[in-house]
Amino acid sequence: MNSPDTKTTTTRNCHCKGCVKEGTYRAPQSPKELDVILWFCLEHIREHNARWNYLDSATPQEIEKTIRQATVWERPTWPFSKGPLAAKRTQRTGPPASPALPEKVRKALHFLALREPVSWEAIKARYRALAKRYHPDTNGSGSSDIAKFHAVQEAFGTLKNYYAKKRTGA
Ligand SMILES: [Zn+2]
Repeated sequence: MNSPDTKTTTTRNCHCKGCVKEGTYRAPQSPKELDVILWFCLEHIREHNARWNYLDSATPQEIEKTIRQATVWERPTWPFSKGPLAAKRTQRTGPPASPALPEKVRKALHFLALREPVSWEAIKARYRALAKRYHPDTNGSGSSDIAKFHAVQEAFGTLKNYYAKKRTGA
């Protein structure tokens, strides 16, 4: 007994492992896999977009680093569960960032795709580029960009505190 009102109410689950919300927002899997469309809930589409925009501008090394960071500091089930980026994730190259850095500073560096040794000038340049990219007036595409804009500012603030002190020898 089929109901006649079988309109397109097909529901998808969010692509994030363990997320039981409905996947109502679509996004390509990665900058390299624009054909692979994934569906996310609002929370996870924001995370996906944040990661996406970041990856889009990063070098392969930076991407690899970010994915390691994501697996260590953020949720362990990051949606890059397949594809070339996942393959890279298993390759461990080089030592982690300087253990002398406070974790907060290391995370901020990671977030801005920087690594020690890094100059204050380089930090400022990266901040300016990202702040411009995510500024609401630049792309006007909604709250997730504002969230990224604030996240970039927060990371920069952390680095500013740390490196400003370092420069003055305080
Ligand atoms: Zn979700």
